[in-house]
Amino acid sequence: MAVSTAHIRAWIDRLQQAYAENRERLTELDSAIGDADHGTNMDRGFTAARAELEAHPPADIRGIFQSVATVLIRTVGGASGPLYGTFFLRAAAAAAGKGDLQAEDVAAVWKAGVEGIRQRGKAEPGDKTMLDALLPALGALEQGGTLQAAAEAAEAGMRGTIPLVARKGRASYLGARSSGHQDPGATSAWLLLKAAAETWPA
Ligand code: ADP
Ligand code: MG
Repeated sequence: MAVSTAHIRAWIDRLQQAYAENRERLTELDSAIGDADHGTNMDRGFTAARAELEAHPPADIRGIFQSVATVLIRTVGGASGPLYGTFFLRAAAAAAGKGDLQAEDVAAVWKAGVEGIRQRGKAEPGDKTMLDALLPALGALEQGGTLQAAAEAAEAGMRGTIPLVARKGRASYLGARSSGHQDPGATSAWLLLKAAAETWPA
């Protein structure tokens, strides 16, 4: 089944819920290897994004992604604001001129978004960032896997950040001491996939 504007709106609603529910957890993870703001950053951003979509409902999927990108860039701050903002900006470009998203469009949207984060943040796999959850998820989608499979790949990637030494972002200031902690951004990235698996048709 194709992905409609209603599915995308349901995804953003679910994300707002997920980041509100996981605010303490994400902040706790960020307090170990960062500055303890990742949970509040994500909660603030998606609460604002959901409110903006309710106030000004866009007509199509491109418009929803564009609106979310603008709000995230304006409200999230930190490293993750511009990175997730770029994800949605690139997703908007990939969805331009399309109605409902077919299976191949879904993979193209995720690829554009994840590649955008990679270009913007210049992180590589294994640097202990959100990409360590996002790249395995993208790999699963590109192999024809479902969003559920992609979410599971993201979860495994997220857990795989625990032993890693951070080479990007604030956590990299800790050097070897960053090892032994799960990356907060990889955790919010897993929630992005998990919420999509729960709201987009398989
Ligand atoms: P800040 O580090 O500025 O306080 P957040 O706490 O909101 O921002 O986000 C931290 C997360 O951002 C990290 O856990 C990591 O996953 C991600 N991150 C940081 N730098 C990069 C980068 N260059 N590329 C990809 N992800 C990054
Ligand atoms: Mg932080």
